Amino acid sequence: MIDTHTHIFPDKIAPKVVERFRTAIGDAIPLAGDFTLQDLKAYMKRCGIEAVVTFCVAERPEVVGAANNFLIEINDNQTLFSFGTILPNMEDPVGEVRRIKGKGIKGIKFHSLFQPIRARDENLFPIYGAMAQEGMIAYFHVGKDPVNPSHPPGTGPQDIAHLKERFPSLKIVAAHFGGLFMLDEARKWIIGRDIYIDTCWGPNIQSLESEEVIDLIRQHGAEKVLLATDYPSTTDPAPQIKWFKDLPLQEEEKQLILRENARRLLGL
Ligand SMILES: [Zn+2]
Repeated sequence: MIDTHTHIFPDKIAPKVVERFRTAIGDAIPLAGDFTLQDLKAYMKRCGIEAVVTFCVAERPEVVGAANNFLIEINDNQTLFSFGTILPNMEDPVGEVRRIKGKGIKGIKFHSLFQPIRARDENLFPIYGAMAQEGMIAYFHVGKDPVNPSHPPGTGPQDIAHLKERFPSLKIVAAHFGGLFMLDEARKWIIGRDIYIDTCWGPNIQSLESEEVIDLIRQHGAEKVLLATDYPSTTDPAPQIKWFKDLPLQEEEKQLILRENARRLLGL
């Protein structure tokens, strides 16, 4: 199995992030781990995950370079695929895109909850253009903020649909079935289009109805769905993976979602 949506921080920073989750974020996003590389590897071993895509999102322009250097260092493009981070108001963001691509990074995570960006922001367009040229994957948090679910989303399903129209060759992944806590909009704007979606949900996938998950997968096309947990920003992933594997989908559909789609997307 390949889990295409996990989070990591350097060992020095991880405890501060855990502390912030516990105090500022509270119960809205549970934590199943501590954001360290060691913990991520233990999760993979425990749950039978052969490879992960992992993110370390920079919240301020002056830390983008350091975050990407950490991601480059841990990336092996075999069991651990680090996706980079970017901010449009840093110095030479397009140069940074090309630098990390040159170091083997295959994609970039755009996180409108933790970064002051929205997918529709035009100052991101040169970044998308460079990524499309380089064949990189743009991975978006799409949907609401679990801490403030009544707020409008920074990046919603409609933004992603418009982006795909503007940059048709850009490979896009829309996390959370195309829209966290916004499945009606996801169905309208994402489902059925040439965009990958992932399966992580808050606080876990069991909080969705299995009928709804199966319907979303079949409407969208199982060949564009990626197994993902959001580890460690979730409850225990083991029962979530079991829940997913127990869905009454065809074996072929499960193989695509659990492994083969991610392999194709990552160029394996
Ligand atoms: Zn996430």
